[in-house]
Amino acid sequence: MKRLISLIVPCYNEEEALPHFLREVSRVAEEMKENAEFEILFIDDGSKDNTLAVLRQFAKDDSRVKYLAFSRNFGKEAAMYAGLCNAKGDYVAVMDADLQDPPSLLPQMFSILESGEYDSVATRRITRAGEPKLRSFFARMFYRVINRISDADIVDGARDYRLMRREMVKAIVAMSERNRFSKGIFGWVGFRTYWLPYENVSRVAGKSKWSFWKLFRYSVDGFVNFSQAPLTISAIVGGGFTVLSVVAIIFIIVRKLCFGGSSVDGWASLVCIIAFVSGLQLACLGIIGQYLSKTYLEVKQRPHYILKETNDEDAEQIR
Ligand code: UDP
Ligand code: MG
Repeated sequence: MKRLISLIVPCYNEEEALPHFLREVSRVAEEMKENAEFEILFIDDGSKDNTLAVLRQFAKDDSRVKYLAFSRNFGKEAAMYAGLCNAKGDYVAVMDADLQDPPSLLPQMFSILESGEYDSVATRRITRAGEPKLRSFFARMFYRVINRISDADIVDGARDYRLMRREMVKAIVAMSERNRFSKGIFGWVGFRTYWLPYENVSRVAGKSKWSFWKLFRYSVDGFVNFSQAPLTISAIVGGGFTVLSVVAIIFIIVRKLCFGGSSVDGWASLVCIIAFVSGLQLACLGIIGQYLSKTYLEVKQRPHYILKETNDEDAEQIR
């Protein structure tokens, strides 16, 4: 029996990369045509270039192509969610439009799932070649810290590129949180995952949409969504300072009673202590604020995405 594979492709300003992408996927689909059929679900994430026009043309020429166009830029996470909600395949893969997630791995991923041992095949870059040094350094730090303090297993170098069984997709769709951090969600839902290592590939055309600042914000999302440790740490630091000040108070009282005298000295140290402690208080307040703002966003229950156009009649316009 032939399986249906859905490919979910978030696209933001990818007009240059898309033709390369479709060509490569068609080649791989041809290779796999004995065992699998394809549905290619492009999500235009509010692109400002001609991505949508390119997708309309694709859909005209190729019946496997479906596209969902967002009413504005909702971000890659929302695009992936829209894809997962609307994919119909027995197996579903999420992949980038820039060929950094090589479609040539699909046959191997497919046969691993077909063997029945695993529920998902995920990919992991073993090199970070071609990436700025500083960015690699911070990325490594991020993975080290988050794995210490969170219970979602987040693998260093893991890509969002993976092929999953329907059951796993259902579980991911059921996690309808607004602040999405897929690397954590994939780990959190569990299932047996096979990790497929590969060498980093440079993007085929166009340029990366991730600035350092955007990546930093994304890593904060990772922490806040999958760990309560920052809250615990600020509570512990606060407790530590309370104990310290009790000791200091006792010390001052005892000194006064036993040795008398007045203590006018120590203006500089006093200022330092006040500045340090108030800084610490603001930092802890900021940490609470991060969690509170995420909670606020969740509570509002706004849609994940809004479609303005699609060629898929079954697609949910708002979700
Ligand atoms: N992307 C998206 N919305 C955004 C930013 C990116 O859908 O707001 C898509 C983009 O088109 C690409 C994928 O997410 O298919 C990965 O983006 P990119 O290649 O820029 O990231 P990098 O590979 O540099 O981490
Ligand atoms: Mg890329």
